[in-house]
Amino acid sequence: MEYIIESNALSKVYKKKKALDNVSIHVPKGSIYGLIGKNGAGKTTFLKIVSNLAAPTSGEYKLFGKPSNELGNNCLKIGTLIESPGIIPKFTAQQNMQVKCIALGIKDKKVITDLLQLVGLGDVGKKKAGNFSLGMKQRLGMAMALIGNPELVVLDEPINGLDPQGIIEVRDIISKLNKEKGITFIISSHILEELSKIATTYGIIDNGMLLEELDSKALFSKCGEKIELGTLDNEKACQVLKDFGISDFSLENNGYIYINGKSEKTAEINAKLVNSGIAVNHITSQNDSLEDYYISLIGGKAGNKNA
Ligand code: ATP
Repeated sequence: MEYIIESNALSKVYKKKKALDNVSIHVPKGSIYGLIGKNGAGKTTFLKIVSNLAAPTSGEYKLFGKPSNELGNNCLKIGTLIESPGIIPKFTAQQNMQVKCIALGIKDKKVITDLLQLVGLGDVGKKKAGNFSLGMKQRLGMAMALIGNPELVVLDEPINGLDPQGIIEVRDIISKLNKEKGITFIISSHILEELSKIATTYGIIDNGMLLEELDSKALFSKCGEKIELGTLDNEKACQVLKDFGISDFSLENNGYIYINGKSEKTAEINAKLVNSGIAVNHITSQNDSLEDYYISLIGGKAGNKNA
């Protein structure tokens, strides 16, 4: 597989704090990579390093297949929106875009109108960016990150603080650019669910360490369906399940038996137990939510969703 970003044992230590600890991340070409972790997990630090805004303490990384010290003009192929996206509050959207175009030596004015149109800021006219809503600022930051036709776009929490409509708009823009222009994205978020509609690959990071890297298919199969079963004699019920050839189940401390599998089996299992003389007092099918899975992975400590 061809990777746009490939890091090998990347670490970053700030004074006493190890912000990144041996992180090896692989961002496939053409993917939308969700970098998920709670506040302080190390997401921004990783994104800053691959955007050349911070240097690692140890480890190495490649961008577009080239070691970071041999990048040369490849740096221009990256668009970034990290922390304060360099928006000048006194300037209009148009003027902010012009500043970035001048810095990159881009003279074609159409680039500005096209990108502002794309992010839904085509008609904000003379309004100053300082008076924009958070969602508008995020979209302007994205438009600025897209100047110069980058092949890789790095977005740090682009969805944070947006209202539901704003979240949908930002997700749609990312999907569109990914599909139509083949742009690879790496996007950080502390809410797995928010990226799950668009991301194709995930890296889950906690306390500076990469806990898991998996594609969306693997993620959804891990959050698979289960049947939750309560009976008046769980031990006997477990034996009956085994006798029927069902082995993928566990009896948990909460007094329920969890059977991995599809909910279509619920009625059949119920009938088998009842026919074996076992009283069933509870049987439901369940889907682990993505967030449950994420919380179980990081050890029960979710991120602060309002941060
Ligand atoms: P957030 O969403 O809160 O930004 P994050 O996952 O992006 O979280 P980082 O910003 O990468 O996390 O921070 C990782 C750790 O490194 C945190 O404990 C943070 O306090 C620390 N840290 C980050 N930047 C610095 C710095 N310049 N100096 C000292 N410590 C830092």
